[in-house]
Amino acid sequence: MSSGHEAAFWADEEVKLLQPGRPHVVRDSKTPSGPVPISGLRGPIISDALFRTFKENALDVRFVYTIDDYDPMDSQSMKERAGMAEHMGKPLCMIPSPDPSVGTDFADYHATRFIALFAGLGITPEFHRMRDLYRSGALDKQIDLVLRSAETIRAIHKRVANVDHPQGWLPIAVICENCGRIGTTLATDYDGTTVAYECRRDYVEWAEGCGHKGRIAPFKGNAKLLWNEQWCAQWDHFGVTYEEGGKDLLTAGGSRERSNEIYREVWKREPPPGLQHEFFTFGGKKMASSKGIGAEAVEIVAIYPPEVVRFLMLRTPPKRHLEFDPAGLTLPRLMDEYDRAADAYREDEVSDLGKTWRLSQVSPTPDPPGFRVRFTTVANWLQIPSIKPEAEAEKEKGTRLSDAELRQLHRRLELARSWLERWAPDEAKFEVLEATPDVDLTPQQRRYLFAIKALIGTVHDAGEMQNQLYELAKQVGLVKADGTPSQDAFAAIYLAFLGKPKGPRAGWLLLSIDPERVRRRLDDLGRAT
Ligand SMILES: [Zn+2]
Repeated sequence: MSSGHEAAFWADEEVKLLQPGRPHVVRDSKTPSGPVPISGLRGPIISDALFRTFKENALDVRFVYTIDDYDPMDSQSMKERAGMAEHMGKPLCMIPSPDPSVGTDFADYHATRFIALFAGLGITPEFHRMRDLYRSGALDKQIDLVLRSAETIRAIHKRVANVDHPQGWLPIAVICENCGRIGTTLATDYDGTTVAYECRRDYVEWAEGCGHKGRIAPFKGNAKLLWNEQWCAQWDHFGVTYEEGGKDLLTAGGSRERSNEIYREVWKREPPPGLQHEFFTFGGKKMASSKGIGAEAVEIVAIYPPEVVRFLMLRTPPKRHLEFDPAGLTLPRLMDEYDRAADAYREDEVSDLGKTWRLSQVSPTPDPPGFRVRFTTVANWLQIPSIKPEAEAEKEKGTRLSDAELRQLHRRLELARSWLERWAPDEAKFEVLEATPDVDLTPQQRRYLFAIKALIGTVHDAGEMQNQLYELAKQVGLVKADGTPSQDAFAAIYLAFLGKPKGPRAGWLLLSIDPERVRRRLDDLGRAT
């Protein structure tokens, strides 16, 4: 029971915003304008976690995901790419595909690559493409309402965001019948059936229009609503009652606030509530698809297991800034935290960390976590050829691994292999040297190595071996002022076997190498006196 002092789990807080006994719709969206960095998965994973939480709280809820592929190509970085300049300002779905075997057009290519990740991550919304909604006439009712309310909307833009649109401006972009651009046209004079439009050469900085003028019915895919008005039309069409979003869109006077005001005044309805998630930065920089900063989502998802990707996004509450850099010790730390969350779930399913573990699983109704070997240990195993991970894991567990535990172990091994290849710092990598290395050791260190020989073949447990190594260090006088073993003790072991002063747990290392070989090495480098 809550004492009333502790804040509820973030997802449970949001449940309170939804009225029971009526249908609900959670929405998320993506403009497919280029490769999506890993930060682009934070929104969909948060939305999915909320969708699951709402359902578990007996709410009647759908999860709708729109692909905003009727938006104009306005990306500066794309403009600089070969062959793209002529397509600036065209709808994303009317630009050729970089690879037709992946997607039929530019938008389809990028949307396909991105949303292909969803199913594997357990994110299962209904997908809707804006091109289909516009062309089918599904939004014609909303278009008519917006055009009839253009003056009201113009005043809202001025009031909320201090943006001036010219007298007669209509919040709609017509696709130019001459050049096919949508980002360069200014529409005016709605007569209830058609609008006048002009494709202007200097209307926007990122694209040049052709100068064509005409009149056209702005329905059935001939035009698209501008960003804020399209947002409202989507809320209305799907009956959206909850939508979270990134902080950049949700600031005061920002895009969301404008849309909220338009929805209130034009649709006469309350806009959907939704939390705003904080920035996701990569090495201190905000990730943006246009800048190419950070790892691409498809890259990370190809390497990280799906529950770890979900955990990465959910362990930091949405309202807190998330900093991520896959290099260095990020992954071992993340995996240790993941294991702590699994333990928390076993102890108390409804603890915050337990809930985070559960929401991180691909299945909304997961089996409880089984036995796991620590990621760092798995990475160490991989670096000693004589180690058989399955046998070693069984030894650690004390009984046979279940099928699920074995699968989990294999995934960890694969992940650790990638980590060692791509991201692990040098101190995490080691190799047991075949030949005795030529290393500098003090007389004390040599005495220590000689003394260790007595343990080989007699002590078989890694923990016990570690204790004995501590005791021997004290006996030979390799101690610090406070009486604890000095670093020189274990450094002697690492130097003897790895040729460098650092390595994995020494007790475990000694037990993982063939005893005959260990004795020979200790003979080579140890001294009795
Ligand atoms: Zn044109």
